[in-house]
Amino acid sequence: MGKTLQAYVIVGMDADFRELVYHAGKAMDAAGIEWTIVSGFRDDWRQSIASGIKASGGNSLHGGSRRTGGYGHGQAVDVTGVEDTDMSDVWKWIDANGAKYGLYRPMPGYDPAHIQSRGEWRKLAASLRQARIKEAQMRPAVSEAPKPDDKSDDKASVVAAAAQ
Ligand SMILES: [Zn+2]
Repeated sequence: MGKTLQAYVIVGMDADFRELVYHAGKAMDAAGIEWTIVSGFRDDWRQSIASGIKASGGNSLHGGSRRTGGYGHGQAVDVTGVEDTDMSDVWKWIDANGAKYGLYRPMPGYDPAHIQSRGEWRKLAASLRQARIKEAQMRPAVSEAPKPDDKSDDKASVVAAAAQ
């Protein structure tokens, strides 16, 4: 259930964008920062019912068909902390480290959870992907990717599994 929706929002992202989110997520895990994706890919219909301040219909970078080409091309993700932690830790981390992953928060005051790519993010994604594949080849054949029904909260692993 939840996993299906999560897979949907993650797989609906642009593959390069997902690569960036994966590496940033891994780095946040390593830094001990609790994070969660509250929204990734949204199709036009979901975007149109997403409440409040979100961009409307086809114009959303979350996957609007006019803006990005729709499913598989989402280029935005909403990330927060988890309950009972300081939500702003995640955002402070993105502000301090996001550039390494081609990620930033374009609207820190207005929509603080919203993260987009910028700069030479496709190039960055390509080199991060190469590094990830190389690392996977060096490692013994133990997969860290969770099974689809794994209850793991390790979001980076979920993103990694979706990236395969
Ligand atoms: Zn957003």
